[in-house]
Amino acid sequence: MTVREVPAETDPAIPGPPRARITIDVIGLKKALRRAVKGEVRFDPGTLAMYANDASNFRQVPIGVVVPRTLDDVVAAHRVCRRLGAPVLNRGGGTSLSGETVNYAVVIDHSKYLTGVGATDAKRRLVTCEPGVINEELNRHTGEDGLVFGPDPSSHSRCVIGGNIGNDSCGIHSVQAQLYGPGPRTSDNVHALEVVSYDGARFWVGNGEEDRLDKIIAKGGRKGEIYAALRTLRDRYADQIRARYPSVAEVPRRVSGYNLDELLPEKGFNVARALEGSALLWGHCHHRATGGTAPEQRLLEETGLSVTKLKGGCCGLAGSWGFEKGKNKISMDCGEQALLPAVRDAPDDTLVAADGFSCKTQIADARTGRRALPAGLVAVAAAARKASRTAAHW
Ligand SMILES: Cc1cc2nc3c(=O)[nH]c(=O)nc-3n(C[C@H](O)[C@H](O)[C@H](O)COP(=O)(O)OP(=O)(O)OC[C@H]3O[C@@H](n4cnc5c(N)ncnc54)[C@H](O)[C@@H]3O)c2cc1C
Repeated sequence: MTVREVPAETDPAIPGPPRARITIDVIGLKKALRRAVKGEVRFDPGTLAMYANDASNFRQVPIGVVVPRTLDDVVAAHRVCRRLGAPVLNRGGGTSLSGETVNYAVVIDHSKYLTGVGATDAKRRLVTCEPGVINEELNRHTGEDGLVFGPDPSSHSRCVIGGNIGNDSCGIHSVQAQLYGPGPRTSDNVHALEVVSYDGARFWVGNGEEDRLDKIIAKGGRKGEIYAALRTLRDRYADQIRARYPSVAEVPRRVSGYNLDELLPEKGFNVARALEGSALLWGHCHHRATGGTAPEQRLLEETGLSVTKLKGGCCGLAGSWGFEKGKNKISMDCGEQALLPAVRDAPDDTLVAADGFSCKTQIADARTGRRALPAGLVAVAAAARKASRTAAHW
């Protein structure tokens, strides 16, 4: 196979599935990856079949697989994929249960070679390791100094630290870490991360960087750009984040979406902890009356989105009523009761899910500047977004 058409990130502003596909020159991609990466670049059918599954019921044949030998390989693979337009998906032990590590993408498997662990700093209770270290192996290492990494998913003999971070995992003993340690979630136990962006920028992000924020942004570069954008986002929505994010005490395992509350000034601008999307979900009247939108909500949440289910009456079109002559103003007034202000006020990167034709039309006609997509397409867009985020080092 020389070229392959794969779904691309859906632009929420452009409705309709046909736009959401790109053609990948598979042979060119394989050659470029082999030139750039010292580790394994595998496009054979056996490997593709092997990486088409994880511990979930999902099955997607990847474009190819890279097994990096070094962190430089991880960066190189991202740069090549970005240059040739291929989506990437990072993978650890593949023990995820919701299809997190299968997709039409170049899968980067960290678990084979990126298994280095540094010396434990027992005094500061810190250890640095590569993303492919098995959870249990890390604990064997730190155990020599009487320390344990709190989050221990039941899959601890197979899952790796990169995957623990990607899923913000917990485990039975991590409840102890809530009582006696920094907290039950992996994010509570991460001090700093070395990250690589899809375009291959590599830098460290930490916790408690509020005091140094001006300096980091003034220094510029990709890190400065990204931090500036995060601060703008945080400042714009700080009050809503304070009011509407449940505290860890209320919901201990809150792992859908990003931990935006970690960016608040009073928390210290903890980018390492914030790295974990959001969507507005609007149910069509008929849809709500005949079963509700719980399945759509579950689907969106399973892609890691934090979903706000909008309450309110009707979008205003009420089937085709609002299209009739003389009813436009009434129809818009109805939409302004709940749906339209919520769409206008949503953060720029929020995806808007609405399955009803009339609701989608109302959102477009009311000049909200947004287009809604059916929930299924929003889920595809969210999964593609997630695949382009990566944490390379813990
Ligand atoms: C039998 C069983 C029991 C389980 N019990 C628990 C449990 O008790 N608690 C719990 O929380 N979970 C549990 N899980 C789910 C799963 O094991 C955990 O979420 C685990 O942390 C996933 O780790 P992994 O290495 O397999 O990651 P993967 O499944 O390979 O990846 C997980 C996510 O992290 C991302 N990722 C992986 N590596 C990187 C990297 N280097 N950079 C960027 N992103 C990366 C992936 O893209 C994916 O989104 C269980 C699963 C099974 C099969």
